[in-house]
Amino acid sequence: MPARTGKEFLEGLRDGRHVSVDGEVVDDVTTHPRLAGGARALADLYDLQHRAETSALTTFPSPLSGEPVARSYALARSQQELIDRGRAFDTVARATGGLMGRSPDFLATILTSWAAAADFFGRTDPRFAGNMRAYHEFAREGDRCHSHAISDPPRDRHVPAGEAPGPPLVLREVGETREGVVVSGAKMLATLAPFCDELLIYPFRPLAPGDDDQALAFAVPAATPGLRLLCRDGLGGHGGRFDHPLAERFDEMDAICVFDEVVVPWDRVFMRGSAAQANALRRETGMTSYAWHQAGVRAAVKAELVFGIASLLADAGGKAASPVIQDKLGELAAYVETTWAIVVAAERTAAQDAFGWYVASAQTLGALGAVNSTLYPRAIELLQLVGSSGLIMHPTEKDLEGGSADYFEDYFRGRTGSGREHAELLKLAADLAVHGFGGRQVLYERFYLGQPEAFRANYYKGYDALRAQELARALCVPSSPAVSA
Ligand SMILES: Cc1cc2nc3c(=O)[nH]c(=O)nc-3n(C[C@H](O)[C@H](O)[C@H](O)COP(=O)(O)OP(=O)(O)OC[C@H]3O[C@@H](n4cnc5c(N)ncnc54)[C@H](O)[C@@H]3O)c2cc1C
Repeated sequence: MPARTGKEFLEGLRDGRHVSVDGEVVDDVTTHPRLAGGARALADLYDLQHRAETSALTTFPSPLSGEPVARSYALARSQQELIDRGRAFDTVARATGGLMGRSPDFLATILTSWAAAADFFGRTDPRFAGNMRAYHEFAREGDRCHSHAISDPPRDRHVPAGEAPGPPLVLREVGETREGVVVSGAKMLATLAPFCDELLIYPFRPLAPGDDDQALAFAVPAATPGLRLLCRDGLGGHGGRFDHPLAERFDEMDAICVFDEVVVPWDRVFMRGSAAQANALRRETGMTSYAWHQAGVRAAVKAELVFGIASLLADAGGKAASPVIQDKLGELAAYVETTWAIVVAAERTAAQDAFGWYVASAQTLGALGAVNSTLYPRAIELLQLVGSSGLIMHPTEKDLEGGSADYFEDYFRGRTGSGREHAELLKLAADLAVHGFGGRQVLYERFYLGQPEAFRANYYKGYDALRAQELARALCVPSSPAVSA
């Protein structure tokens, strides 16, 4: 099957998966009020692959069939192909303003890195290398949408063993059958889980030698017997699109994934039983470059969105001439350029990796991961400072049609448009700067790479400090030899 359409994607979601929202099992994730907006937004991303102006950017010819398939599943044979993959990420991110972090290209590109490094998975069992290659081909040719659950429940990470109430929750292997490995337990916070075709599980937290039963990497369909996806409360489905233009369209949803004696078929197991191998996953597959390339491009697009909203607001409210506001817009514009500069530098310094494929510089892209968890919240703070009271004081759609509509129209008339147009802009800004949707976006940018402090510490540990140290050492002034009396 070549690149799917949005309609085909939505049809695939009606497969009997166990998804619950607000305590109730959902019949159809494509129509449930809390989920329908996110499903529709993802369908629109699939449709990009078929629109005349975007299909060439977002697809490439399948090495198997020659049919167009998603470009995020492509390996790069040259620097240009790597840059082309970056432009595909950009096209997808622009469709949502970078607000859907787990758009299908994110895990597609991680799977692609694993296919290139398939022999790594075969170290403990040669079948796993073949499984990985075959699974990548299956995902690419079937244009699968993935979510991943890699974090463990906080209780099992924070409370010392033996002191936590109840049995351990963390996902682990509990047996095997002729069909596959049996797993039970929970993984937390899989973004996009109710909308994925397939759920990927792999290790994130460094495992101790005794944690071998948690050293698992595998993929299962969302509609797997024994798998429940327990969603947080929905941010969308509370009103019309006019009043919550972002929350109603781009809530990608998060869920706890609970496995109750789920059988993972043997051909979907990629790693099993070795904590040491689990701990080497990122370092030895080179997956971070692929993941951070997509994430970096998306972060840059999102930076543009925040700046764009702030500058439109300043123009509409007549504040753009104020030096105080210009200072804030200048800082936001610098944020845009900083994020793009990192992406472009990482692409321009792309080189062949140990497997012979072109990858963007992970050291350069990692800098964006290290700083964006503080830059993005700062950008939202700047948006609040530009929008100020307008972010809470603006008319609803019903206000604009009710008895005081004329008054609202006069009161909110902006320098660049009607009262209604100004209100549209204030709604957009409010969703991102002060509402629950925007609060989750800030949390996402702070935490999607794990604890930001741990990320920066690891970045430092892997950073090549030699050049900087040589520069510093060259400027040292040796102490004068002791003067003898
Ligand atoms: C918006 C968003 C999207 C994410 N998407 C994904 C994803 O797609 N896939 C994925 O695997 N991960 C995802 N994550 C998780 C992310 O990797 C983690 O947030 C990050 O690693 C930090 O861990 P933590 O949130 O558990 O923080 P920690 O600081 O380790 O723990 C968080 C808090 O949990 C609370 N807590 C609740 N119950 C307990 C308990 N019983 N015992 C101890 N503490 C408890 C504590 O108060 C603690 O402060 C996402 C996170 C966010 C915020």
